[in-house]
Amino acid sequence: AKSAHSKEPCFYDAHMDDAVRERRELIADLRHALDADAFELYYQVQSSIPSGEICGYEALIRWNHPVRGMIPPARFIPLAEKSGDIVPLSNWVLRRACHEAAGWADPQPVSVNLSPMHLAEKQLVETVRSALADSGLPPERLTLELTESAIIHDKHFALEQLKALKAMGIAIALDDFGVGYSSLEVLRSFPFDRIKLDASFVSEIEHDEQAVSILRSVAALGATLNMPVLAEGVEEPAQLAIVTREGCAAVQGYLIGRPSRMLADPDHVRRVASL
Ligand code: C2E
Ligand code: CA
Ligand code: CA
Ligand code: CA
Repeated sequence: AKSAHSKEPCFYDAHMDDAVRERRELIADLRHALDADAFELYYQVQSSIPSGEICGYEALIRWNHPVRGMIPPARFIPLAEKSGDIVPLSNWVLRRACHEAAGWADPQPVSVNLSPMHLAEKQLVETVRSALADSGLPPERLTLELTESAIIHDKHFALEQLKALKAMGIAIALDDFGVGYSSLEVLRSFPFDRIKLDASFVSEIEHDEQAVSILRSVAALGATLNMPVLAEGVEEPAQLAIVTREGCAAVQGYLIGRPSRMLADPDHVRRVASL
């Protein structure tokens, strides 16, 4: 064992041991969780600017772990991506979201997050087709959200997949726009229907003129490219006022509504319209 005075960096300490063990346990638990029905989809409203009307709902996965309680997706989605469990998990999300949305009174589209590994799957188009057919959800009511990282691995195949999905009538949104490193290239080459500007551009917007300029430019760029821009992570009325003034087409965030199991709450619409 090393002495306490050793100057050698210690990469392997008890803390890290715990973290590694926890990750392994979570991956093992993930495999059972699907069968055990431990996942649930929450939905967060997206609303049009300036009307405030609801224009869609994003499905966000939740894992209610029997021992650890609610585990946020940021904790287990990356693990599932590494272990490969993301594909069955994603399939479940897709089928569940289509099935639930088909039963809503509100006919606005549902947005489903697609992981990079899923886009690389040859069977994806068939999977989506059968999720729609089995649920009866019309393709126009499904939007798939993708980040840049989904596309850069195999651009040629990604483009083929997106075109096939779009040909079915599904819309494709570019998620987390602005935090990648090749955003403009991706916009030029891929047929997105809309852009979701990452929340990091909105969070400091009241105090940051640079952020306002970027938001304004992205909103204008999106309008030019016929890819309406949705601003993510709007929490404050002042932020909503700015994204409205700067020309965003839609908004999503805690101010409008938190992800929940309750759908089509008319109070959300009224609240936004009155802000
Ligand atoms: P995302 O796709 O960018 O989803 C938006 C995240 O921001 C959600 O976190 C949402 O709850 C949160 N959010 C929404 N409005 C606000 C706001 O005003 N303030 C703040 N601070 N946060 C807000 P969530 O549900 O924890 O999901 C985190 C990420 O996990 C998602 O980011 C997405 O990348 C991933 N994820 C969630 N569900 C799924 C899924 O079903 N499949 C896949 N592949 N990924 C998912
Ligand atoms: Ca998303
Ligand atoms: Ca996002
Ligand atoms: Ca994200």
